[in-house]
Amino acid sequence: MTKVDLKIVLLGQQHVGKSCLVDRFLNSKFDAMQKNTIGAAFGAKRVYLPNGRGMTLGIWDTAGAERFESLSRVYYHSAGSALVCFDPSKMDTWKKLDFWVGELQENEPRCRIYLVETKMDLLESGEERIVSEEEVAEYAERINAQLFRTSAKTGYNVVELFVGVARDADKDADKSKMSSSSFMVKDTKTEEKKTQAGCCG
Ligand code: GDP
Ligand code: MG
Repeated sequence: MTKVDLKIVLLGQQHVGKSCLVDRFLNSKFDAMQKNTIGAAFGAKRVYLPNGRGMTLGIWDTAGAERFESLSRVYYHSAGSALVCFDPSKMDTWKKLDFWVGELQENEPRCRIYLVETKMDLLESGEERIVSEEEVAEYAERINAQLFRTSAKTGYNVVELFVGVARDADKDADKSKMSSSSFMVKDTKTEEKKTQAGCCG
C-alpha cells in the first residue's frame, strides 16, 4: 500500500493535453500518439519539496469527453487540488472552463483550483492565441486560481506546476497541522506480480 498525501485531478476538454501533461511529469516523456483516456487513469509520484519534506502525489487524469462527464465527479471527489486545463489556441476548450470550475465550486469548494494553459509550444510555432494573456490572467484571478503556462511537448513549466501544487498543499497542511486529502492506494506493481504468481504457479 502507498499513502497518497495529496489527490490531484486534471479536468478540461478532451484533447487539451491532460494525459500528455501527466505523462511528462510521471515519466519525463512526450508521446505524440497519446491514446484517448477511457474513464480516467491514475498515477502516483513522490516529490521532495525545497523544505526537505517528501509528499506523494496521487494524480487522477480524467477523460474530458462528454460521455464521461458525469463520471468526473467520482474522480474530483475530495481532491485537494484540481488542474483545469485548456488550449489557448482552441476556443471551445476555453469556453468549457466555466463548466469545470462551476462543478468544483459547487461540489468541492475546498479544492484549490489551478488554471493551466497547455501546448505553449504551438503558440511559439505560430498558432494563433484566441484568448489574450490578460483575459486569461483576469479569469484566473476571478476564480481565485493560480495560472500556469505549460507545454508537455517541450516540458516547459510541467515540473514547476506539480511541485508548485505540492508546495501549496504542504503550506496549507502546515497551517491546519493535518493533511486533509491523505488516502491509501494499493501498489499496482505489487498487485500485478501477485496475480502472475497465482496464475502460473
Ligand atoms: P487529453 O485528451 O486532454 O488527455 O489530451 P492528450 O494528452 O491525449 O493530447 C491530445 C493531443 O494533443 C495529442 O495528439 C497530443 O500529441 C497533443 N499534445 C498534448 N500536449 C501537447 C503539447 O504540449 N504540445 C503539442 N504540440 N501537442 C500536444
Ligand atoms: Mg487523456
